[in-house]
Amino acid sequence: MVELSGVTKTYSGGVTALAGVSLTIGYGELVAIVGPSGSGKSTMLHLIGTLDRPSSGRVGIDGYEVAMLNDRELSALRAARIGFVFQQFHLAAGVPVLDNVADGLLYAGVPRTDRRRRAAAALARVGLDHRLDHRPHELSGGERQRVAIARAVAGEPALLLADEPTGNLDTASGAGVMSLLRELHASGTTVVVITHDLEIAASLPRQVRMRDGRIVADDTSTTDVSFPRPTLEVSR
Ligand code: ADP
Repeated sequence: MVELSGVTKTYSGGVTALAGVSLTIGYGELVAIVGPSGSGKSTMLHLIGTLDRPSSGRVGIDGYEVAMLNDRELSALRAARIGFVFQQFHLAAGVPVLDNVADGLLYAGVPRTDRRRRAAAALARVGLDHRLDHRPHELSGGERQRVAIARAVAGEPALLLADEPTGNLDTASGAGVMSLLRELHASGTTVVVITHDLEIAASLPRQVRMRDGRIVADDTSTTDVSFPRPTLEVSR
């Protein structure tokens, strides 16, 4: 699903955010990315999400070489295959929950009635089918993040990327969001989640640790037996 090879990223101010990262993530994995603030986690997630391009090195996503695709093709790949969840939810203010989710399917070229039907199904999946007409400000933080997850998965992406999805939530809501991510993983979605919460990270099957723009550890738990990896490989 993801193949980074010798990836570096230097921002225009001269900051080296990634100093040579190689990482392979298979189809159907659930991976935690951990490390101190400024260690390059978000930069790496942006590159995996094809929101940005590396300064050097190779990025392969779902069998596509990012360097070979123009911006229009990258947008199409994102719309069809990748979902994003952010710490700040990024919902449209004043817009009903159903439309917030349905509008996320615009770029995938889904017709309007289909968009609303699939949005309603995604909201049911996260347990919010009784909140379709609510505006984001009428929801709790945990509910807002569930809306954001519904938006991310309405298009049935193969890859879900989450950047500190529990960062703004209380413990109980955070646990609810994590169990949703586990369910998505169990149904076959590849999930990559940045977290500063070491307890959450330790509960996931694989932990990639970053420091100063490099991967310093890549641990696979042998204890995670409750969510076995899907045996069916999606064809590459
Ligand atoms: P993390 O997610 O681990 O906190 P980031 O990937 O956000 O780390 O940042 C890594 C480094 O790159 C930091 O030093 C940060 O200040 C810098 N950085 C991140 N984004 C930009 C940007 N758009 N322009 C310049 N520097 C950036």
